[in-house]
Order: sequence, then C-alpha cells, then structure tokens
Amino acid sequence: MDPVLIVGAGIVGLTLGQALKQKNIPFEIYERDATPDARGQGWAITLHWALEYMWKMLPEETLARIQAVQVDPDVARNDNGNFLFINLETGEPKYKIPPSTRWRVNREKTRRALLQGIEDHVHWGRRVVGVNLPNDSNKVQLVFEDQTSVTGRIAVGVEGSRSMVRQILRPDSFNNSPLNINFTGVAVDLTPDQIKPLRDMDPLLFQGCHPPSGAFFWFSMLETPQVNGTAGTADERYRAQICMSWPVTGPEDEVAVTDEARLANMKRRAQGFVPFLRESVDRIPDGTPVTEIKLADWECLSWDNHSGRVTLAGDAAHAMTMYRGEAANHGLLDAYRLMEAIVKIYDGSATPSVAIDEFETEMRTRTSRAVRLSRQACVDAHDWSRLDETSAILTKRAIVGE
Ligand SMILES: Cc1cc2nc3c(=O)[nH]c(=O)nc-3n(C[C@H](O)[C@H](O)[C@H](O)COP(=O)(O)OP(=O)(O)OC[C@H]3O[C@@H](n4cnc5c(N)ncnc54)[C@H](O)[C@@H]3O)c2cc1C
Repeated sequence: MDPVLIVGAGIVGLTLGQALKQKNIPFEIYERDATPDARGQGWAITLHWALEYMWKMLPEETLARIQAVQVDPDVARNDNGNFLFINLETGEPKYKIPPSTRWRVNREKTRRALLQGIEDHVHWGRRVVGVNLPNDSNKVQLVFEDQTSVTGRIAVGVEGSRSMVRQILRPDSFNNSPLNINFTGVAVDLTPDQIKPLRDMDPLLFQGCHPPSGAFFWFSMLETPQVNGTAGTADERYRAQICMSWPVTGPEDEVAVTDEARLANMKRRAQGFVPFLRESVDRIPDGTPVTEIKLADWECLSWDNHSGRVTLAGDAAHAMTMYRGEAANHGLLDAYRLMEAIVKIYDGSATPSVAIDEFETEMRTRTSRAVRLSRQACVDAHDWSRLDETSAILTKRAIVGE
C-alpha cells in the first residue's frame, strides 16, 4: 500500500509516525528544517492529560526517553503538580490547583526523543509547497519546493499553526485570528541564589496577573544545573523562561522591533510587581534576545478532506493560545485518534472517507471548544476582576467537547 505522507516533524507528526510504526503501517515524514538540530533550545511544555494516550501509542523506550528530558529530574521524581496563579503586586497565591500527573519537558529534546527509531522515515530539508489530488481517488501527492513530488494514500498536515495544507483546504479562511494582547519572553541564566525566590514559589512554573495594569507574568524552569552539567561547579546555573503579556490599548503597547526596546518594555511593566519578581525581570541582561509570540488562534473550521485523502492535526488543525497549556496535549490525542482511523483504512474495515470524517468530527468538537476556552483564558489572565474559580485559565483541562 502507498504510505501515509506526514507534513511536519514536530511533536505531533513524529508521534503519529511512531504510532503508525507500531501498527506496521507505511509512512514517511517530510520536514522543512534542514536537520534535527536546526532549531534553538525552544521552550518547555507540560504533558498532562495526553500522557494516557502516549502510553497507549508509543513504545516503552520512546516513553522512557521523553520522561528523561523533563526539565527538572529531581522535581519530576516527586512532583506535587500544583498549578499556581498569583497576584503579581503582592506575591500572594490567588489559586493553587491541586496535583495532577504532569511531565514538564523540553520541547526540542522531546522532538529528538520521538525521532529515535523512525529516523529512516524522516526527510529533512523537504518543504512541502503543494498537495495534488490525482484522478485515482486512492492516491494523493505532496509537492516540494524543487517541484519534485511523492505519492501516498493519505496526506496529513501537521506543520504547525501556519499550516500550508490548511491554506489549501480552506483558502478562504486559513488565517489565524489575532488577539488584542501582546506577548514577549526570554530564556535567562540564573545563579542558585537568584532563582531561589522563584523556585520557592514553585520549582517548575507559576503565573500571575498584576491587578492595576492587567500585565501577565509567567515563570518556568528550562534547565537545572543537573541537566546542563554545571552542578557542583563554580558556575552552577539554572535556565528559566520569563514571559510577559499585556492588553493592547494604544501605540505604546505594540511590540518594539529591537531586543533592547522589548526588554525595556518588560522591565517597565514589571515596576509595580512584588520586589522578588520585579528584580527577576530587572536583572535580565542587556543583549538578551526577546522573542515575540503572536497570540492568535484558529478554531478547527470545517474543510473538504477529499474523500479522506487529506487531513490536518495538531496546531495546523487548531491553533490556540498557551494560557491553558494544552495545545500539544490535544495534538497528541489527535495523533492517537488518527492512528486508529488509519488502521481501519489500511485493514479495510472502513473507507478513508468514513474513517477520516469520523476522526475529524471528534477532533473538531473537542478542539473548537478548547480553542475558545484558551482564548477566554488569555483574556481572563489579563483582568484581575474576571478571575474567579470559573475562569477558563483555572478550570480543569478536559478532553470533552461541547
Ligand atoms: C510559549 C509556549 C508554551 C507552550 N506550552 C504548552 C504546554 O505547556 N502544554 C501544551 O500542551 N502545549 C503548549 N504549547 C503548544 C505546543 O508547543 C504546540 O501545540 C505543539 O508544539 C504543536 O506541535 P505540532 O507538531 O502540531 O506543530 P509544530 O511543533 O509547530 O511542528 C510543525 C513542524 O512542521 C514543520 N513545517 C512547517 N511548515 C512545513 C512545510 N511547508 N513543509 C514541511 N515541514 C513544515 C515545522 O518546521 C515544524 O517542525 C506551548 C506553546 C508556546 C508557544
């Protein structure tokens, strides 16, 4: 049988590849990055409710490799899983949501962990620019930048929130909808003394809102000395992620072009924070790259899957803001459900049209709600007066649909 053609070797594309390998279904993954190391260190993500599905679809050695790239192995061994939301003006916790199982993992290392065992099926430096639908309705083709093409049975666009396949499937409405909130963040090295007050709040991550201004702050661990090899040396250091976002009400709220001006903006907005938080922003060194993340989403609108020949999953199918921290969890569940649909197609128990329609219906119901909740969580996170137990940023991350 022709293979499943996967566009994008992100976390979701690689997970789908691993899951299909378990089922002996042929697949090939095409990735625009030139090499597995083409990207920087990236950020960390929390795997929580999707862990259950990862256990069902990934081989044990892959799971062990992912477990090993948690940002803080010590905390991972005895994690109380608190989700902490604080008042940035006082440092007082507003909400402390009780434990749930979570793995906080480095995103790029997770990608490398997922690559092992399927390297021969991942083709680097292969940017997909088009999808062809031949007259033979059992076939689909991907077209690359150099105008070469490959033929398969099903094409899956998992190439992230600015998906090219989405653009082909919904040419009239593929753009993400922007939010009126701006976001910048840095990765910064801190000594044990410098990081102590932040880790005392929570060793892995916490977030909060500044009531007078509506500014949002997010701290998360990226590397401990044990992970980056500085433990026990004179140069012991942690690496943390510090992010801030704020509502846009005028030109002064736009994100500046230079790192210098972006950093000055973060420092200015942190002035009213409780001293240990203000200091943590104030001490970010000049010259630190400041990354902007454009907050925008896409609600998994409907598309024509051409009798089950082309579909989407992960951020390509449902871009959402990260204020509920569950986009990758949804993408991993997509991979699981899509694997189930593809198994039915390859063993002949369902037609591609029926199996992919069923997959998309479940995904669309589940994730359109998740996109809306994440948007609401983002808005609520910047308005202290809206924050209560029912706020989308605090309510349980759930797998249910409407
Ligand atoms: C700051 C931040 C924090 C987050 N925290 C969390 C969290 O705690 N929990 C959580 O669940 N989620 C979190 N997320 C979301 C999570 O990172 C994404 O949902 C997840 O990475 C999406 O994976 P993906 O495989 O769908 O897409 P991506 O990771 O974007 O991968 C897409 C891949 O496709 C490739 N590609 C793109 N175009 C083409 C093309 N034309 N041809 C070939 N290849 C192509 C790209 O190079 C890339 O490798 C966070 C996001 C951000 C920004």
